[in-house]
Amino acid sequence: MADLSDALPEFTKWPTFPFEGDLRLRQLDPPVETEPPRLGEDPATCLACAAPEDAYIWVSDRWRVRALERPTGLPMVLILESRSHLDLGDLPNLFAAELGVMTVRLERAMRSLDGVARVHVNRWGDGSAHLHLWFLARPYGRLQLRGTFLSLWDDILPPIPEEQWRENCALVAAWLAEFGGRPLAEPPRIDWKAPSTLGAEEIGSGQTSSGQPSGATVDQQQRDSGQGTPADARGTEGTSTPVDVADNPPANGRTSATDDADTDPTIIQKSASRSAFGVPLDDDEGWEEGV
Ligand SMILES: [Zn+2]
Repeated sequence: MADLSDALPEFTKWPTFPFEGDLRLRQLDPPVETEPPRLGEDPATCLACAAPEDAYIWVSDRWRVRALERPTGLPMVLILESRSHLDLGDLPNLFAAELGVMTVRLERAMRSLDGVARVHVNRWGDGSAHLHLWFLARPYGRLQLRGTFLSLWDDILPPIPEEQWRENCALVAAWLAEFGGRPLAEPPRIDWKAPSTLGAEEIGSGQTSSGQPSGATVDQQQRDSGQGTPADARGTEGTSTPVDVADNPPANGRTSATDDADTDPTIIQKSASRSAFGVPLDDDEGWEEGV
């Protein structure tokens, strides 16, 4: 086992690093001789394969996109999965080409959301065997969230409001559906009630999926299992649970990030781009069939 120096790496001094104060390096365990199987290594036990359509915000013949089970600190976190049980290196050329198209399309859809400056695209693959790519939206103006530690900040920041999160899911699903496939996330229902009755029941309940999707079980297990493999933190520490907008209570308040977004002059431009949602800036009709 290599002895690690006690000197902390330079990135701990970066303004984007989420922690300060006294830090200490964790020592490395000796390498194992045989790595343990990842979740779903056997397709028969793969929960991504078994997840029902309503665990996703959008589906097509070969791809599915899901959100987390509830809002998190970033404006939007989505996961792109192949419908077939494949990993990145297994993709046939057609799938590989479509993955590029889907990546660009999803990045563009998420970047069109209000208050989103950038979309990070990550694939770790240490937690689950079934191909899944992470798309994490960075809030506009939040320069400390740039770069490597965005996924950590997602767990640190207070969750965004539930209604905004649902709307973001629906907007991305609608955007993707412009090119084919099926949107499954719906915007929050406008529920005309006297203010005194608000809170008596969940806002927007019953509008989409029914019950807890089995896909949620996968990630709940991952969440419950505690600390996943650090190299695939996003895939193993439980932030990958599918959207289930029906069962979650509405969140209260707005995050400072979204408050900033509200005063951001670029929002006008972003809202305008969203108003043109039905006309995505894409001309790749040839991909509509399966993508
Ligand atoms: Zn699978």
